[in-house]
Amino acid sequence: MGLMRHVVATRSFLFRQAEMSRPLSLGIRNMSLIRNKAFINGAWKSAASGEEFAVINPADGNVIGNVPNMNEADTHEAIVAASNSFQQWQDTTAKERSHYLKKWFDLLEKNKEELSEIITAESGKPLKEAAGEVAYGNSFIEWFAEEARRVHGEVIASPVKSKEMIFIKRPIGVTALITPWNFPIAMITRKAGAALAAGCTCVVKPAEDTPLTALALAALAQDSGIPAGVFNVVTSARENAPQVGKSLCESPLVAGISFTGSTDVGKLLYKMCSKGVKRLSLELGGNAPFIVFKSADVGKAVQGAIASKFRNCGQTCVSANRFFVQDEVFDEFVAKFKEEMKSQLILGMGSDGVSTLGPLINDAQVHKVDNIVQDAVKKGARVLVGGKTASSIGDRFFEPTLIVDVDPRMLCYNEEIFGPIAVLIKFKTEEEALRLANNTKRGLAGYFYSNDIAQIWRVAKKLEVGMAGINEGIISTAEAAFGGIKESGLGREGSHYGMEEYTYIKYLCFGNL
Ligand code: NAP
Repeated sequence: MGLMRHVVATRSFLFRQAEMSRPLSLGIRNMSLIRNKAFINGAWKSAASGEEFAVINPADGNVIGNVPNMNEADTHEAIVAASNSFQQWQDTTAKERSHYLKKWFDLLEKNKEELSEIITAESGKPLKEAAGEVAYGNSFIEWFAEEARRVHGEVIASPVKSKEMIFIKRPIGVTALITPWNFPIAMITRKAGAALAAGCTCVVKPAEDTPLTALALAALAQDSGIPAGVFNVVTSARENAPQVGKSLCESPLVAGISFTGSTDVGKLLYKMCSKGVKRLSLELGGNAPFIVFKSADVGKAVQGAIASKFRNCGQTCVSANRFFVQDEVFDEFVAKFKEEMKSQLILGMGSDGVSTLGPLINDAQVHKVDNIVQDAVKKGARVLVGGKTASSIGDRFFEPTLIVDVDPRMLCYNEEIFGPIAVLIKFKTEEEALRLANNTKRGLAGYFYSNDIAQIWRVAKKLEVGMAGINEGIISTAEAAFGGIKESGLGREGSHYGMEEYTYIKYLCFGNL
């Protein structure tokens, strides 16, 4: 049980730091949803090996709890449970599945404060953002409770009098859901809501950094009466992730994998799934361009830019990664951006209720972000704001940073930064902006601000992304089809398309009629 370190305000930075913090033990007031066991076949289980790993609060390094470090054998047990329960779950009616999901949603809503505090404790994001994520995450369960009842087939006009033909949709079977730490609840519910609604069962493998939210979800699934084995959670430390992943990808009992995480791990899973030709949905890394054309309302563009860049301390796959600003409005954009950074960004403990920017998730992420900034400076970029760790607050806090004079030799120009670093690049023409924006292997989200309607339509079509925010910096919602192109992934989550990842089309031909 750690003491929250009180944040001392310093004015030496351009940005602000929180001046007060709420001294809560761990920041979690109600521990009723905290579980220290994994959830398999409706029961709370230790790892067969007895091993555990510690869940760390990234804001202060304190241990929040310990959970089982599961391995291949434990994962197999969860897969078998999901496979056995699939036999009954697929036979429930869509209306019954909808009722189970609605009940789960009601409990998630009833416990939204508890869930927010768990997310803040294990991921470090500010409480207000955690509450926003819980609302977003819960909305997928509500949405798919509704979509469960709208999985329709088709009747086809037969070319032969003696035959009738129909297509029906069937659940694919057991699904493995592997999720990252940056949205501990939403990345699970976006998958599990659709899987369960379609009639599939699942084994969830959450990230090492954020297993407690996944287990809290399981506790509420259990309370909602979802049958044993339909929703399972296998927790593991980072060193066991490859063997857990391998057994999920290679088990003949698993029909499909849905993964959200880095492109490198996504490619590894893609390869492993090829052996069994499994259904695969991949939501991978982004490298989002954010283009500001000269006709744009610069004030609105800056608001969108701040929201897109600094949400979750920049650790969001759809975060603006490269800002391209047209020559004529560059200086105005820089001045306003700096001003908004100063007035909106408060770095501090996520649990203090004041901070708008928390820590980075772990030491590896701090090292990566620091290296990206140092590399840019070494190669001639100018840091206008921030640029280093904020060690007066804690080891994992990084100052919100603004960098200009950036060129293609720099890491910050090419890599997914995943930190609070805004990189600004000047351009002259629409063609140049599109060429620069599309010059990446990734294609998840992109944003642009313009008030020229012909230009809006041209750029909307030519930007090589799966999702585009047009005069808008925040695009995620359960109703939207979320997903990327190029190396950003396969398939879509959310919206009615989200159900398609978990169903297959079966063609039925009735003859001799
Ligand atoms: P990551 O390292 O790929 O981890 C994601 C998940 O995969 C974690 O549960 C991780 O477990 C697990 N994992 C790691 N190696 C594995 C293996 N060999 N086999 C099976 N599972 C394995 O990604 P991350 O650093 O946590 O997350 C950041 C990345 O996710 C960024 O690139 C971001 O853009 C992307 N992301 C994409 C979306 C989207 O919707 N497109 C959304 C959010 C994040 P451990 O935690 O135990 O290592």
